[in-house]
Amino acid sequence: MKTVSTIADVRSHVAAARRAGRSVGLVPTMGAFHGGHEALMRAAREQCDEVIVSLFVNPAQFEEPADLAAYPRTEAADAATAARLGVAVLFAPAVTEIYPDGFATSVRVRGLADVLEGAERGAAHFDGVCTVVCKLLNIVVPDVAYFGQKDAQQVVVIRRMVRDLDIPVRLHVVPTVRELDGLALSSRNARLDAADRERAVALSRGLEAVADAIDAGERDGAALEAAGHAAMTAAGVEPEYLAIVDPDSLERVQALAGRVLVVVAARVGPARLIDNVLIDTEQVATHA
Ligand code: AMP
Repeated sequence: MKTVSTIADVRSHVAAARRAGRSVGLVPTMGAFHGGHEALMRAAREQCDEVIVSLFVNPAQFEEPADLAAYPRTEAADAATAARLGVAVLFAPAVTEIYPDGFATSVRVRGLADVLEGAERGAAHFDGVCTVVCKLLNIVVPDVAYFGQKDAQQVVVIRRMVRDLDIPVRLHVVPTVRELDGLALSSRNARLDAADRERAVALSRGLEAVADAIDAGERDGAALEAAGHAAMTAAGVEPEYLAIVDPDSLERVQALAGRVLVVVAARVGPARLIDNVLIDTEQVATHA
């Protein structure tokens, strides 16, 4: 595996792969690899001849300087993981390579980027995500780009950006990888002490409570959100939001029918965590 830091080096590697008729997969990441990142890399390796992983802690998507400063950085271990998983190129650029002096452009997806995480973290968050992902897609021009369901709203926003800007890439979404107790893997979990780690299971407990209530026949959005909220507070965590939304428009669902996305965010100690689950209400066995 090659580690490169310049756009020119990535492009020349991809050009050589293209000349050899090889397909290219891109896995965008901010590093501190865990099983979630590994699942994306494995999916890319199975489906594409050449896998490029980008490792860039994107300052533009952090609204709090302290959060950016505290973000875990483990590049040597990350390079070893990527190499073990058969990644061809690790692209780890400096901030100035991505945002040179005079950089003035921002990609904004109106509407979808303004709710949920956008409302909590500020509009700049998804502007930062979209701008850097758009750049990475233009730098690598992959056949397929890999994203995790863990960041469900990110997937919805990026899908819209790719459609609106006619970016020639297929998106592949990988299911959320979890710890045995249900906690979704996240680079931010490293910040939890033992007590916070125990409480962090509240997010998946809240989602389970909603799924159980849907299973039991409840179809009222507000009642389901209340059930999820109660399960979380019982586990010692107050959600920033717990919402049942349409998986495409992200609009709040009042009366459930078809597929719904249940999203949750909460601060647990020093970490802000998110999780979600997709539920097809037509497929669940109801006891109503
Ligand atoms: P990050 O480095 O946190 O920006 O994540 C890079 C990619 O990995 C994003 O597409 C995330 O959605 C994905 N990812 C993060 N955690 C998980 C997880 N637990 N399961 C699946 N994918 C994940």
